[in-house]
Amino acid sequence: MAEPGWTPPLRDELQGIEPYGAPQLDVPVALNVNENPYAPSPGCVADIAAAVATAATTLNRYPDREFTPLREALAAYLTREAGVAVTPDQVWAANGSNEVMLQLLQAFGGPGRTAVSFAPTYSMYPEYARDSVTGWVAGRRREDFSFDLDHAAALIGEHRPSVVLLPSPNNPTGTALPPEVVAPLATMLREHGGGVLVVDEAYAEFRRTGVPSALELLADHPNLVVTRTMSKAFALAGGRLGYLAASPAITDALRVVRLPYHLSSVTQAAALAALGHAEELLGAVAELRRGRDELVRYLREAGYDVAESDANFVLFGRFADRHAVWQGLLDRGVLIRETGPDGWLRVSVGTPAEMDAFVTALEAVRDAIGDNGLVSEQQGAHR
Ligand SMILES: *Cc1c(COP(=O)(O)O)cnc(C)c1O
Repeated sequence: MAEPGWTPPLRDELQGIEPYGAPQLDVPVALNVNENPYAPSPGCVADIAAAVATAATTLNRYPDREFTPLREALAAYLTREAGVAVTPDQVWAANGSNEVMLQLLQAFGGPGRTAVSFAPTYSMYPEYARDSVTGWVAGRRREDFSFDLDHAAALIGEHRPSVVLLPSPNNPTGTALPPEVVAPLATMLREHGGGVLVVDEAYAEFRRTGVPSALELLADHPNLVVTRTMSKAFALAGGRLGYLAASPAITDALRVVRLPYHLSSVTQAAALAALGHAEELLGAVAELRRGRDELVRYLREAGYDVAESDANFVLFGRFADRHAVWQGLLDRGVLIRETGPDGWLRVSVGTPAEMDAFVTALEAVRDAIGDNGLVSEQQGAHR
């Protein structure tokens, strides 16, 4: 209860701001936060539980501040996954890649400095900038969500950002960045103020065959950071483990801003045990990629505009009133995400049964709203 005559001295720029977060609603079919729909197997659960039990015997002590075994396991995993040698001193981890990115801005942003991204982009980036008192500039992507290197060059020349944040595959569009974009951007940043390029590969494991990871460019670009997470393909969103690969100069800098013992013994033990089941946890990725490609095909055939996706979600539209469609789906027990450019909706790829439920509900909503709920070609369909 509020004390009379006192209000918390909230920073001016935080006044009236609603806490961020997708609605956490109890629905039969939740396709709104890009989780892996498959829970860990009993064997994996047992190993995580045993590892946590062992960690519990020493919980009176602070954890290993350098989380060395976990960094070794993450480095080995990245080396296998991307086919690029990554060493433990190039790896850093925190409680979700969200914390990793906040630490990057705490270290490389700050008052008088600027962070840049290109919209539509991940909605958390401006919040990291705000919370670390870093200036924020959002450029744009092209109409088809591809990356406009000339526009980026102009913006970088003008603002000389100390951090550029780029999700690849992008959230909310699903679009991956080609190396022909990442490499020149990293070079350009070094030449214009020496900024860091963060490629947020939260969805990397879902990328289509032949789409490379930015990890392949690490050796040539000391200012490149590639962030990853165990929250998506790895089916460990509840474990809160995100990480990055970069030059040791960058991981060293992050030691300065991390909180003491930020990664609990329990988190380290659970993540390490889960990494031991990498193959099994990632086993569903192939099926989810197939489900994604099928969903894209279905939506296109049904007349929707659909963005190219290398992720485990699909952005589709365009709707005259996207909120009505979102609500209509929710009324039928299917929760998706009202995000991205106006007129578009984002749906995560779930199990085949969840995808059937989504399609059935979408067809019912379309019957209810009518085809005039879709923006017509003449009004400027996306593709
Ligand atoms: C989901 C997501 C993340 C992952 O966040 P965690 O904190 O690791 O759970 C990071 N970046 C993007 C773009 C995402 O969509």
